[in-house]
Amino acid sequence: MRHIQEKFEELLEKHGLKKTPSRLSVLNILSSREVATSELYLEQKLGDKVNRVTLYRILKTFEGKGIIHKVLDQNGTANYAVCSPQCNEWHHHDEHLHFNCVVCNKVYCLDNIEFPDVKIPRGFKLESVNYTASGICKQCRKSADTKN
Ligand SMILES: [Zn+2]
Ligand SMILES: [Zn+2]
Ligand SMILES: [Zn+2]
Repeated sequence: MRHIQEKFEELLEKHGLKKTPSRLSVLNILSSREVATSELYLEQKLGDKVNRVTLYRILKTFEGKGIIHKVLDQNGTANYAVCSPQCNEWHHHDEHLHFNCVVCNKVYCLDNIEFPDVKIPRGFKLESVNYTASGICKQCRKSADTKN
């Protein structure tokens, strides 16, 4: 547990951010989850520890610094997930698949999937590509199996 805390402190330091307890708590929750996390979930988890405005600002700052990235689920709700180490203040490189489960609505960041090179027409400049997929996640398939 201790070295996880240190890892987060280092991450904040690397991005020139002050190591406030609120920022550390948000990082803690986001990285402890297998799926992308909504602001509402964070709010409920943090309770009175962090107020809404602070939370909003923390998410904006983290996103801008390349610490977390935003994923929209099928309802258009923003979810946040921790970035890959290649992300930085100027560019996000989260080129993985975002899998949105139609049953539980959770968004998974799926790494280790190969994508074809995206060829864009002349004159355009590619900055980022988002891969999204929807279907039924492992968890939901499992619980469907046990019910039948
Ligand atoms: Zn990123
Ligand atoms: Zn699911
Ligand atoms: Zn992701």
